[in-house]
Parts: sequence; C-alpha cells; structure tokens
Amino acid sequence: MDVENFLSDVSDNLKKLSLDLNQALWDLETTGTKEAQQKQQELDLAYKKYLNNPLTYTKLKKFQKENSSSRELNVLERIFRAHLMPEEILTKISLKESEIMHQYVSFRPIVDGRALTENEIREVLTKENDPVLRKKVWEASKEIGAILAPKIIELVKLRNEGAKAMGFDNYFQMQLELQEVDENWLMDIFERLYQASDAAYTQILQEIHEKLAKRFSVSGSELGPWAYSEPFFQEDPLDTKELDDLVRNVDFIASAKDFFHSLGFFNVEEVIEKSDLYEREGKNQHAFCINIDRAKDIRTLNNLKPSLRWLETLMHELGHAVYEQGFHEELSWTLREPPHMITTEAMALICGRQVYLPQFWENKNVDPELVQRASRSLIRRQLIFSRWVMVMTAFEKSLYEKPDQNLNKLWWELVEKYQHIKPNENRENNFDWASKYHIGLAPVYYFSYLLGEMFASSIEKKLNGFMSSKTADYLNEHLFAPGNKYPWYDLVKNVVQTPLHEKHWIEEFVLS
Ligand SMILES: [Zn+2]
Repeated sequence: MDVENFLSDVSDNLKKLSLDLNQALWDLETTGTKEAQQKQQELDLAYKKYLNNPLTYTKLKKFQKENSSSRELNVLERIFRAHLMPEEILTKISLKESEIMHQYVSFRPIVDGRALTENEIREVLTKENDPVLRKKVWEASKEIGAILAPKIIELVKLRNEGAKAMGFDNYFQMQLELQEVDENWLMDIFERLYQASDAAYTQILQEIHEKLAKRFSVSGSELGPWAYSEPFFQEDPLDTKELDDLVRNVDFIASAKDFFHSLGFFNVEEVIEKSDLYEREGKNQHAFCINIDRAKDIRTLNNLKPSLRWLETLMHELGHAVYEQGFHEELSWTLREPPHMITTEAMALICGRQVYLPQFWENKNVDPELVQRASRSLIRRQLIFSRWVMVMTAFEKSLYEKPDQNLNKLWWELVEKYQHIKPNENRENNFDWASKYHIGLAPVYYFSYLLGEMFASSIEKKLNGFMSSKTADYLNEHLFAPGNKYPWYDLVKNVVQTPLHEKHWIEEFVLS
C-alpha cells in the first residue's frame, strides 16, 4: 500500500466514525437522555478503539519516516499516539468519563427545598444581596465536587497510567506534547503575565471589594468566594445587572447576523439555522460549537437569556463557527480543523469581546454611560479571567504530577496566590476543585483560552481594530483557510508575523 492509499483509507474510516460520534454527542447534549448517553458512549468507544491500533500506528510511523514533511501524517501520528494506551485502560477511561459527564449534566443542588440549575445559581450570585443566602447557594454549587472527586481522582490515575504506558511522565505532560505546546514555554509565559499584571489585578480587586462590601453591608475582611457573580470568580462581578440593561431591547439573533455581516462573514445564517439556542429541560447548560461533518454541518449550542454574558457567548460560539466555515475547500478531511484550540479560541474570544466595546453599540440607541461601563468591565474581566486560567493550569499540572496530595489544600493555595481570594471558613474537608466541569471532562484545555486571549490582542493590533468589513478577508486567508496545514505557532506567525507573546494583551488591558 502506498502512502496516498494509506492516508485516504485512514481518513475515510475516521471521517465515518467521527461523523457518527458527533451526531450522537449532539443528541446527548441537546436531550440528556439515557439512550442518547448509551449511544454516545458506544460510538466514543468505537472511535477510540479504531485509534488504539498498534498495527496502523506502526505503518504510520513507517510512512512518516519516508515522508517526514507530510503534515497529514504528523497530525494522524499524534492522534493515534494519543489513543495508543492499553485497551483495558482506554475502556475504563471512556466509561468513567461518561459516568462523570452524566452526573454532571443532571445534578441540581437543593437549596431551601428547591433544585437549582446552573443558571439559577448564577442568578442568585448576580442579584442577591443577602450574604447568608449567597453563602448557602455558593456552598450548594460545590456539592457536586464531593460526589465527583473520588471518581475524578480515579480518572486522573487511569489517564496517568495510560500516559506512562506510552512513555510519558504523566497525562498533563503527554497532552501538551501531543498538542505541540512546550510545557516550560507555557509556564514561563503565564509567569511573565502574572508578574506584569499583578499590580493592576490587585488594584481592580480592591475596587471590586470596596463595592461588594458596601453592597452586602459587610466589612472587606468578611467577603469570601460567595461574594462574586459566579462560583469560581472567573468573571467581573461589578455592574452585571446594569450591563444587562444594554441588551434589554436587543434581538440577539438579528444582532449576531448584523455583526458577522459587518465583518464580511455572510454565511453565518447557515449555522444559526442548525443551532440549538434556548434553555430546555435535560439539555447541556453550557455552550459550544461543533462541526458535525467537517463540511457544511456546523452548529452551536446555547442557552440564551437576555444578559450581556449570553450575547457574548453567542458571538463567541459563532466566532468558532465562521472559523470552521473558512477552511480551504481543497484541504483534505484530516486537515479540516484548527491546529490547536488556541487559534480558534482567539477568533471566538475576539468576537465575544466586541459586545463590551463602544463600536459594537454605535447607532444602537443605548445609554452611552452603560457603554463606557462595559468597556471598563472588559478590562476587569480580562484581568480576572487570566488569574482563573493560571489557577486551573497550575492546579492541573500538580494534579497529574501528584494525584494523592491534599487537592483541596492545593486548590485554595493556588486560588490565594493567583486570585488573592481566601476560602469561606470550614472548607478544609471539601472537594471544591472537583466542582469545576473542566477538571474531570475537559482536561489540560483551559490554558488555551488565555493563550487565545493573547493571540486575540495581537490580531486586533495587526488589523488595527477588529470591526471592519475587511476583517473576514484577512482572517479567511491567513487564519482559517490553512486549517491544520501548519502547527499553531506557525499559523500565529502567518497571521500576525510574530510568535505568540503577551505584550499586546498587556498593552491592551494592563497599560491602558
Ligand atoms: Zn470557545
């Protein structure tokens, strides 16, 4: 068999398997039924079993030796290697993940006799002024952690066992290497960002604490993690209610169409038509974009509510979608994907950012004072979010290096170091880290968001502003069309002519 036949054989199989899996995943996320879960689980296993094939892998390596510059072989080699764990471990991982996912999706903590959805928890944390009730709801949001922690630790150990069987130290290291990310480089760039932004972060935190202490009628030292607008302090807690007034008369869908058209993306309707946009019983409460067939079938899942956050999320997911629409049509199936989450997150994050910026609200008949508040909020959000990613990344690195340590203690040490937040009293015997969805189910992934933010700032700088009718042409050509033809760090250079760095992000959010 020659290399062309081999490649088309493998990619045809993967195409079929991933199409079935994506459809099943969509059914599961939109219904949450037991049947959908079983189907998704079976297909996930079938997909992973196909990739868990030492014979195919050996052939791949042989062809790779003869064609060392082939990007397709490089991409496939890393996909196959990622799944080359002993089959027994692979099966256990898959089952454990499905179990955790199902529990996570269906869990509703009870507060005062009422089962709360995630949106309802957020609503209390956004609007409620009574510190006692806030604390109660915040603590309820952590209950899932105690249920899932033992399972997540088992899963972490299984992932490590698999990584070790393939010659890696642990799963964290394996993931970064397979994603073409240098671990030392990553830790260094986050450390530089931490140093360069610590004074600015401390200052905005002080501003936030003063306002929150006043709002809840407590002293600054009485504030705790329950004081913010969501359970992990990933977002700006100030002005949330006020900023939602901005979207009071906004038709989200019309606004999204206008926005993407104004940039030159004219096919966004196709995605909107296929998307599942509103809250429903049993449905995944988050948001994502999925390219079902790596061709025309691109969808987003949202749970839209009239808040600025959900307008941002809609733009974010559609940002991913227009990226997926932009792959060059002559690319092979294997290369019709971004080279890394970093590059597609950058696009999604820039689109989300725009709803906080004055240009987005021009000619929209809204209170200019609110628009000003929104752009100040964006700066706070960026600083707050960057700290959150630092916590997640440092935690995961340590979690996979030493899964038997006191993880709750580690969690709160990192939260204190990066976010400057102390826990409520009596959290010692809890499992607060395990209530975060991504720890169990989207491992070694969060860092991509912050690298994406840095890349986003560099793209804005390069384009000299994002909201222009020329944006689509430039990004289609330089960012989307190549798909996975180059590693992400070369694609970054292709777009902004420099390697990925933190300087434009610092310029935009620390020095502004
Ligand atoms: Zn995203």
